[in-house]
Amino acid sequence: MKTAFLDKGHDHGDCIQAALNAAEVVCQKQKARLTPIRRRVLELVWRGHAPVGAYELLQILKDEGFNPAPPTVYRALDFLIQHGLVHRISSLNAFVGCSRPGDVHDGTFLICRTCGTAAEMLDQTVLGTIGDMALSNKFSLSHVSVEAVGVCVDCRDGDRTEV
Ligand SMILES: [Zn+2]
Ligand SMILES: [Zn+2]
Ligand SMILES: [Zn+2]
Repeated sequence: MKTAFLDKGHDHGDCIQAALNAAEVVCQKQKARLTPIRRRVLELVWRGHAPVGAYELLQILKDEGFNPAPPTVYRALDFLIQHGLVHRISSLNAFVGCSRPGDVHDGTFLICRTCGTAAEMLDQTVLGTIGDMALSNKFSLSHVSVEAVGVCVDCRDGDRTEV
């Protein structure tokens, strides 16, 4: 059965390239500028499918000679979130690339605690339910982040002791 968790052997270079291409299109459409630092931060967030923390991003950029001040990285991340390219995973205080870039939406994720992969769910049923819940409570909703933690099929099959 195919799941939102990509095969460990998939060509991740394709994921990165697709994300960067989509970012170019989204920014052009929204008349926003994908500056070198924003582009590099997006690329680093897409290093894998596991969320990356801001501190880790800073360290990598520093090693590359970018040497940005922390606010620069946070501003780049804010930009990427606002333009629907990146999601913030609140429970991990980390960032992950959006699998439906450009269509700004709240994130629904299944997160593997073994390999760290955060798979974005495209099914919006949960968000709809939360929306109804807010409505019936006259609650004005600003942001939802659904983060379910467990073990993905690859990690489960690889280590049968953890079920
Ligand atoms: Zn990938
Ligand atoms: Zn998304
Ligand atoms: Zn896993």
